Amino acid sequence: NIQVKMRRHPAGDLTVDDFLVESSDLPVPADGQALVKVLYLSLDPYMRPMMDPIRSYVPHLHPGDVMPGTTVAEVIESKDPELPVGSVVVCSLGWRTHGLVTKDVVRVIDPANGPLSASLSVLGMTGATAHYGLLELAKPQAGETVVVTAASGAVGGVVGQIAKLKGCRVVGIAGGPEKCRYVVEELGFDVCVDYKSETFEKDLAEATPDYVGVLFENVGGPVFDAVLGRMADHGRIALCGNISQYNATEPYGVKGLRHLLMHRVNVYSFVIADHREYWPAAVSELGGWLAEGKIKYKEDVAVGIENAPKAFISMLSGGNFGKQLVEP
Ligand code: NDP
Repeated sequence: NIQVKMRRHPAGDLTVDDFLVESSDLPVPADGQALVKVLYLSLDPYMRPMMDPIRSYVPHLHPGDVMPGTTVAEVIESKDPELPVGSVVVCSLGWRTHGLVTKDVVRVIDPANGPLSASLSVLGMTGATAHYGLLELAKPQAGETVVVTAASGAVGGVVGQIAKLKGCRVVGIAGGPEKCRYVVEELGFDVCVDYKSETFEKDLAEATPDYVGVLFENVGGPVFDAVLGRMADHGRIALCGNISQYNATEPYGVKGLRHLLMHRVNVYSFVIADHREYWPAAVSELGGWLAEGKIKYKEDVAVGIENAPKAFISMLSGGNFGKQLVEP
């Protein structure tokens, strides 16, 4: 049984020394419990702000805490007839290889419904995030221009594909030509602009001749600022993430706020964990689109729980290509 803990609160950019890998004996299930083996762990950007001792929407971690996270796991020993050996469940075990669960903290999934790992991405939290932020909050109209940042990622990739299904013109923003090519050629966005290019602002302007009706915002910082300058009158921003700032020790001063006022843009901030009642319908619709081949997704799987810190650090600066998972 191997687990990864936060060794200390990080100072800015994460290093592997901010984590501690420990092993212990396998726990033994008591009556009503099952021992599970983790098949996949989801690495998500929200885990980084949780490592800082700051006020947030969830309590922050303390040194020595196991890193949190959603997992797909298989029951390997059981003292609950409702969780027989071989059942596969979604649960929140964090960064570890094994753990004890009870039936009230798991959701049993049927392997016949598709790849198990999809429950941690397009058919799980990131898919619900994309669906909710875009369709419930920003409400794009057919023909409008929708800009999606972190466009090749787990959330962004789904957002853009939904927007295409709704008849929008979709512009992605991603880091580097390979990701941009994937966003257009595989995911079907109309255009993708590389924010690492020296001509980014000019390219963005050319990609948004009618300005931006909807921004699905995942990154913050200078990329966000650049899109603010392109917002259309009465544009809407689904403010979902701020990943460029999660390691920052000095806050980035957004310069483009005046554009929000000048163009009467509304900003809808949200945390998908507040809207759990929305997930089943969103996941069901996404599952239908997936089965019909109308949406695609990509995974980036690191092998070995001891490699979770490296994969996480890399994801925070775009080292991932698709939904970041760990196969312990
Ligand atoms: P992704 O799969 O999109 O991975 C993160 C991506 O962020 C990287 O691949 C990288 O893409 C991009 N990125 C990293 N640093 C920068 C930077 N400095 N500037 C621009 N882009 C950067 O992760 P998720 O899909 O899981 O998450 C995307 C965002 O959504 C995050 O901000 C996350 O916090 C947020 N989120 C919010 C939720 C909510 O409830 N509000 C729920 C889930 C996620 P590239 O190589 O293109 O730079």
